Amino acid sequence: MKGTKLTPQREAVYEVIRERADHPTASDIFEAARKRLPGISYATVYNSLRYLKEAGLVHEISFGDSASRYDGVMERHDHAICNQCGKLVDLDMPEAAKLMPAAAQKSRFRPQSVHFTLRGVCPDCCGPQ
Ligand code: ZN
Ligand code: MN
Repeated sequence: MKGTKLTPQREAVYEVIRERADHPTASDIFEAARKRLPGISYATVYNSLRYLKEAGLVHEISFGDSASRYDGVMERHDHAICNQCGKLVDLDMPEAAKLMPAAAQKSRFRPQSVHFTLRGVCPDCCGPQ
């Protein structure tokens, strides 16, 4: 990471997010971070997440009233989420970005990003076909 010096706590939180592809929640991150730094508190993890987000190192993905998920992949990409088990996986739908001009025109917003999220039932929850 160029030019940024993280505290050991922030470093541990950042590494947990970067090493996992499952978009963990704050409590998942806390459980994993305390294995690296046994003294770390939930509040410290939470504050580290806020710091990393503001520093542009992680993304927070929020879904209404369910727990936010954290993503260490900063390149534009899309997601699919399972309505049954909450599994959140990456996928790339470059077509989604192409809808931005039309969406901007309809909303009269100045656009910054477009993300596609598929909601459904994952292969594990579908069971054997
Ligand atoms: Zn599932
Ligand atoms: Mn992702």
